[in-house]
Amino acid sequence: MLFDIDGTLLRRAGPHHRQALIDAVRRATGVETTTEGVPVQGMLDRDILSCMLANAGVSRAVIRQHMPAIVTAAQRIYVRSCPDLRRRVCPGARMLLYRLWRRRIPAGLVTGNLSRIGWKKMERAGLKQYLRFGAFAELAADRAGLVRIAVRHARRQGWINRSSPVALIGDHPNDIRAARANGVRSIAVATGLVSAEELAEHSPDILVPDLRALSLEALLG
Ligand SMILES: [Mg+2]
Repeated sequence: MLFDIDGTLLRRAGPHHRQALIDAVRRATGVETTTEGVPVQGMLDRDILSCMLANAGVSRAVIRQHMPAIVTAAQRIYVRSCPDLRRRVCPGARMLLYRLWRRRIPAGLVTGNLSRIGWKKMERAGLKQYLRFGAFAELAADRAGLVRIAVRHARRQGWINRSSPVALIGDHPNDIRAARANGVRSIAVATGLVSAEELAEHSPDILVPDLRALSLEALLG
């Protein structure tokens, strides 16, 4: 089972993350940027950074040149500043991860977060022990690519075979699209900023108001 983080496992965990991106850009380039006007929900961290810099008038060539240093700085800054996130865990998320863990069904992350940021969030939310692996922003150009990497990894490890049910659980239409692009089931949860009505327009296989409403039976199909 593959999980998005922001809006799916955690909510309102964004301010320190956004600040880390802003501080990293300043440290690596000296440029003042903002996440205002950047539709960060459902975006990958590197795309958010590119968008912030482009909005500040920085050319694509310069963005590309500085991106590795910015990404390194953002992760270092976030790991130092990440608050306690246990109260930010979405309803039902901890119980669902626990049930999967107890039944030895592998759970992993597919997230637009950079890897150290994503793992730090899980650690500070008390969820890390339930998650075996993850595909993060720096591994692919888009979310569909991340799903592909996560599924391939689980197959190579022998955790799943061709008949194992695979699902991506997320709060954004981008998650639904990424699942569909890989032929895995899409499960939409309306605990992010996108309403259940809007998610329904993208026809996920299952739509729930929050993870308390998702039974293991429904999840495993
Ligand atoms: Mg999300």
